[in-house]
Amino acid sequence: MVTSEQVKAYAKECGADIVGIASMDRFEGAPKQMDPRYIFPDAKAMIVMGFRILRGTLRGIEEGTFFVSYASMGYAAINFVHQPVVLWNFCRLLEDEGYEALPIPNNFPWTNTDSSGQNPELTGQLRETWSRPVSPDRPAPDVFIHMRIAAFCAGLGEIGYSKMFLSPQFGPRQRLAAVITDAPLEPDPLYDGPQLCDRCMLCAEECTGQAISTTNTVKVTVAGRDLEWGEIDYHKCSRYFCGASRQYNPFMTCPEDEEGFAQPVSQGQRYKVPPTYVYGRALEGARGCIRACMMHLDEQEKLENKFKAPFRIRKPWRL
Ligand code: SF4
Ligand code: SF4
Repeated sequence: MVTSEQVKAYAKECGADIVGIASMDRFEGAPKQMDPRYIFPDAKAMIVMGFRILRGTLRGIEEGTFFVSYASMGYAAINFVHQPVVLWNFCRLLEDEGYEALPIPNNFPWTNTDSSGQNPELTGQLRETWSRPVSPDRPAPDVFIHMRIAAFCAGLGEIGYSKMFLSPQFGPRQRLAAVITDAPLEPDPLYDGPQLCDRCMLCAEECTGQAISTTNTVKVTVAGRDLEWGEIDYHKCSRYFCGASRQYNPFMTCPEDEEGFAQPVSQGQRYKVPPTYVYGRALEGARGCIRACMMHLDEQEKLENKFKAPFRIRKPWRL
């Protein structure tokens, strides 16, 4: 019989940076469309892993001279290369022990965290009929789990005002993945360490798209704890993170570019600057929700992943 300690040690050996285990009852109260118990009704546990975004992948954007590293090595390669390989290798341990292991990297292109049986890429009748439940008691496929809530349920940290998941090791610098299994694993306690987010609001102030509301919040209760974060304008974030801001996009060089980069994410993210690892690029380097937040947490010495030099050394650039 495999133990929680063995499972967590093996996940790190496979390449995860942080790992925690949630019991499935912690998802009680989740919306039907986002409840992992509909994906694997006999599951006993969810293993959640965090994969660090190397601070160095953000250096080129901070200096204004090298934008591809974050979009590729800090984003697409973690989602589409590193996570799937780690999950494959990791799941072998559980299946060799006779337990089913369902791997979920943090990005499945079919759907997103608010699929509700609809495909937001489609319009009209097509959008309404994207999928339908296979029986009245089940949600329409595909159910998709809220990774940040899963990480919270696995005791890995907290959700900050920015809605980014914050861990005591890396702050907002990780991407998450999960494995659902029928192995009866002992869950980790919910995070009870020093509070990471102090509501400094730098994430909202520094966000290039002003996408994080400073007045409206979302409140949910998860595993008996009340959580709250700022309302995110996804319409704005989806345009600005991939380059809609003239002040923070040096690839915008003529009036047509302004229109091109401001297109809806599916086109705007592929305009002029090509995708990396078949994934649209992120040009603004998460200026508020990752960079400002990580610098703030670092200054307060709240993070375990410490550096010899501060991240911001020179006056930040702005076009
Ligand atoms: S920048 Fe400040 S308010 Fe925003 S998530 Fe980080 S610690 Fe919280
Ligand atoms: S990714 Fe960029 S635009 Fe989106 S919330 Fe973060 S800082 Fe704002």
